[in-house]
Amino acid sequence: MLRSRYEAVIVGGGHNGLVAAAYLARAGRRVLVLERLGHVGGLAVSARAFPGVDARLSRYSYLVSLLPSKIVSDLGLKVALRRRRYASYTPVGDTGLLVDNGDAARTAASFARVTGGTGELEAWRRFYGMTADVAERVAPTLLEPLADRAAMRDLVGEEAWRDLFERPIGEVVDERFADDTVRGVVLTDALIGTFTDPSDPGLLANRCLLYHVIGDGTGDWNVPVGGMGAVSGALADAARAAGAEILTGAEVLAVDPSGEVAFRDAGGEHTVTGERILANVPPAVLARLLGDAEPVPEGAQLKVNMVLSRLPRLRDPGVDPAAAFSGTFHINEGRDQLARAYAEASAGRIPSLPPAEVYCHSLTDPSILGPEPRRAGAHTMTLFGLHMPARLFREDPAGAREAALRATLASMNGVLAEPVEDCLLRAPGGGLCLEAKTPVDLEDEAGLPGGHIFHRDLSWPYGEPGLWGVETGLERVLLCGAGARRGGGVSGIPGHNAAMALLT
Ligand SMILES: Cc1cc2nc3c(=O)[nH]c(=O)nc-3n(C[C@H](O)[C@H](O)[C@H](O)COP(=O)(O)OP(=O)(O)OC[C@H]3O[C@@H](n4cnc5c(N)ncnc54)[C@H](O)[C@@H]3O)c2cc1C
Repeated sequence: MLRSRYEAVIVGGGHNGLVAAAYLARAGRRVLVLERLGHVGGLAVSARAFPGVDARLSRYSYLVSLLPSKIVSDLGLKVALRRRRYASYTPVGDTGLLVDNGDAARTAASFARVTGGTGELEAWRRFYGMTADVAERVAPTLLEPLADRAAMRDLVGEEAWRDLFERPIGEVVDERFADDTVRGVVLTDALIGTFTDPSDPGLLANRCLLYHVIGDGTGDWNVPVGGMGAVSGALADAARAAGAEILTGAEVLAVDPSGEVAFRDAGGEHTVTGERILANVPPAVLARLLGDAEPVPEGAQLKVNMVLSRLPRLRDPGVDPAAAFSGTFHINEGRDQLARAYAEASAGRIPSLPPAEVYCHSLTDPSILGPEPRRAGAHTMTLFGLHMPARLFREDPAGAREAALRATLASMNGVLAEPVEDCLLRAPGGGLCLEAKTPVDLEDEAGLPGGHIFHRDLSWPYGEPGLWGVETGLERVLLCGAGARRGGGVSGIPGHNAAMALLT
């Protein structure tokens, strides 16, 4: 039986809503989570995507960096995040650039072979030394009330402030690095989920890069053992154990600034009142629920989930595919290739050589495969394609999806020794284990406006001192999802911060 009043009603049961619920319930607050779908987790879920194939794929998000260890320990989460031995591999003709976290000499040899000297590796070490320092300083502040711009500047120091916060990252990368491949590898972190030119003075790419290098004080992108669903599952367990009520299949229809929430479930339409309402939904959805208008953001990625019967062969004889695919495998993501793809997509065309990155979760964590596919040597493969804005898919969603997928697989095949299609597993029903999600698909099935993976464009991690970055201008309504300041990605940070805004 639901009560009619709660201290907090949380709209949406994504991982951030669950973090907020867990903190609040542990502090003794009466909390209700209302989730539209039949399950919690939002974009942080695992799915058996191919009937008859025992593989739990992280359907949307797949790697974890931004989730602070403090949230894991505060909530006693049983979550294991495994570091990847190989950071990345980038094919270049018949060789490639391997960044091996476990072998500095091998990384140095790879840089020398691909870039023809030692300068690029030195520049790489200087750049990532700077970001590591920023990560250590900035990450702890993400769980505190906002610092203002001047305090953030003092915290990170002159060089990092200039190169990460003030000058377009495209210019900085062009100045610091000479090699097109290396420039591209650095810039992909500035463009994931973000449709922009890295030289744009609006600095959107800088903000994107920042959140990709500061996670939990290291910037490492780790593999969630058991898949992304294990992270959300642990959060839901923590919230329920602390006494939060979680109602799935409950779609919120309207939110009133007074605290009244109207929702519909299988039993009909109901209202419930919260002293505070925490919106885990994107800001554009919250605006609609409040009866206001908010411009819809635009996502720009193609996500492809695959199960392979075996790993594809590489053109590079010096690298084992198991090494190359366990880190981030960059496909046609050189600086110039990224720029061309951006120009084509801006002009309304699917990029002729789509930039993308793939990785195989099961190489680091085989637990997401059942015994049969594991025994047969199968692997999961996740592809994240860049510069595929929603506008390309509006007119003919299915036709454009097909065209984008075809172009992306062709782009990938161009850097492999054999077509990836030859390695796809066939499900018992005969279908190939391959699914593609465009921004428009995400809008339709995940309720994500514009298919924007961060709910809206990322914001700087500073602001009005004393605020938590979750405020909406309405006293009783707070954001607790990715669209809050310092939100975006699987982090739990806005969930934590919304809870703290209530509790402190
Ligand atoms: C393809 C893809 C790949 C990504 N890869 C990564 C990655 O590897 N690493 C990473 O850190 N981040 C990644 N991200 C981003 C990350 O997944 C999201 O930013 C993050 O999961 C957002 O979490 P959230 O809890 O704030 O919101 P969401 O997960 O969006 O949750 C919002 C919830 O609200 C519910 N809801 C919506 N409307 C209503 C309503 N009217 N009533 C009730 N409930 C409602 C939704 O069903 C959903 O469950 C990726 C995202 C995508 C789409």
